[in-house]
Amino acid sequence: GPVLRLVLGDQLSNALTGLGDLNPDHDVVLMAEVRDEATYVRHHKQKIALTFAAMRAFAARIADRGVAVRYVRIDDPDNTHSIVGELHRALDASPFSKIVLTECGEWRLAQALEAFAGVATVPVEIREDRRFICSRDRFRRWATDKRELRMEFFYREMRRETGLLMDGPDPEGGRWNYDAENRRKLTKGLRPPQRLRTPPSSLTRDAIADVARLFPDHFRDLESFGWPTTAEEAETVLADFLDRVLPAFGDWQDAMAEGQPWMWHGLISTAINLGLLDPLDVCRRAEAVYRAGAAPLNAVEGFIRQILGWREFMRGVYWLKVPEYRQRNALDADRVLPWFYWSGKTDMACVADVVATSRTNAYAHHIQRLMVTGNLAMMLGVHPDAVDDWYMTVYADAYEWVEMPNTRGMATFADGGIVGSKPYAASGAYINRMSDYCGACRYDVKGKSGDGACPFNRLYWGFLERNRGRLRDNIRLAMPYRTLDGFGEARRADLLAEAERTRVSLGAIVGEKATKGE
Ligand code: SF4
Repeated sequence: GPVLRLVLGDQLSNALTGLGDLNPDHDVVLMAEVRDEATYVRHHKQKIALTFAAMRAFAARIADRGVAVRYVRIDDPDNTHSIVGELHRALDASPFSKIVLTECGEWRLAQALEAFAGVATVPVEIREDRRFICSRDRFRRWATDKRELRMEFFYREMRRETGLLMDGPDPEGGRWNYDAENRRKLTKGLRPPQRLRTPPSSLTRDAIADVARLFPDHFRDLESFGWPTTAEEAETVLADFLDRVLPAFGDWQDAMAEGQPWMWHGLISTAINLGLLDPLDVCRRAEAVYRAGAAPLNAVEGFIRQILGWREFMRGVYWLKVPEYRQRNALDADRVLPWFYWSGKTDMACVADVVATSRTNAYAHHIQRLMVTGNLAMMLGVHPDAVDDWYMTVYADAYEWVEMPNTRGMATFADGGIVGSKPYAASGAYINRMSDYCGACRYDVKGKSGDGACPFNRLYWGFLERNRGRLRDNIRLAMPYRTLDGFGEARRADLLAEAERTRVSLGAIVGEKATKGE
């Protein structure tokens, strides 16, 4: 009999397991734009428009192949506005012999779908999502006997398993990791290349108009929308990156520059996360560029590690640790998120620039997310729920499975060291070294204390002092704590007080978890 096949908004891949044995003669594909998913945080408008546009294009594509698609638009008056509600409604509308789902990326929705499977009137088959390089089971097996989970060791296994950048049993070039060569500061006069952005198709323009009309109170701008919404558009962006940008990706991977949102980054995370690009294929394509002698090893290895290492590792950790992971708050952070995270109105030049690109583009590159907004949120002691809410809201590529380990783990150490071996706390010196922000900033990056000194400096030692009981035994923090101990008790009390004054003056006060922004 006919099978109902659900395709979620981030499952837009022809190779989706749930579509594997699709019978175009009588199966029906269900896709639904629902408010539950569009509004559980106030997602950036570009993120919703991107998802709707990509879903509609995907649906049109399979309908062209003669497949019946039950497509529920956001403005359909009968829309129940939940995925489970739409499954029930489809079952009520016509008879199906079974339902096929592909496991979803997020714990919250997976729970709802499993509950649905338990009560549905027809059998529900939930298939593995094979679009990742490492399956959840494979990751679990890797993790079982590990005292600590470290990305680097996971990554090496993945290199061996896939054969990517391998030279027989050895890593290409003799080393697994070339990050030491990937920390160059942008030299004066050097400008990042012009980037190819995708002009919105008429379908995308419709989706943008729908979002402008139906989600007026969601976060920020639609004007600069330039994300690929189909596999072809994504391929064009990828090909351009591999061709023109990848060769220098490694060198400037950690560099930041005022008014330069893209630098040499891939700009393909949205496409991979939606299913428009296949991660293993992207890695193989990057490797081919290296093998052809068109890009250096440090660039290609660094790029492949982001996908084969970090992306897969984050997803593995997420599924290994949810739901408990969602509650973690290892540093007992209790402050509200300062309003400038939403408005960008701050004298901190680095923060203002990162928030500006986040508002305009629904994008900031990884070092901005990690070392500016993430680092600051951690040192301010912002509650992890509020930090998660912000990252989930503002970035077009943010899905909980990848956002949460990055934010609660990597950026703020709220997971207590599952993802990273130490908090990435850094004073203004780091930002000054890796960017051109500080020159034009009202704050003095060399200043240590007082109103004119860089807030990152005023927070840094106090952060360590405040978390002494939690972090003092961390071997990777032995050096800064030795320095701190050398300051003596009176000075340490001063540093703690200075950090507290700074927290309050920046708006990181104790209060309701402030999670809604303009
Ligand atoms: Fe950021 Fe401090 Fe530099 Fe200003 S001085 S740009 S606040 S790091």
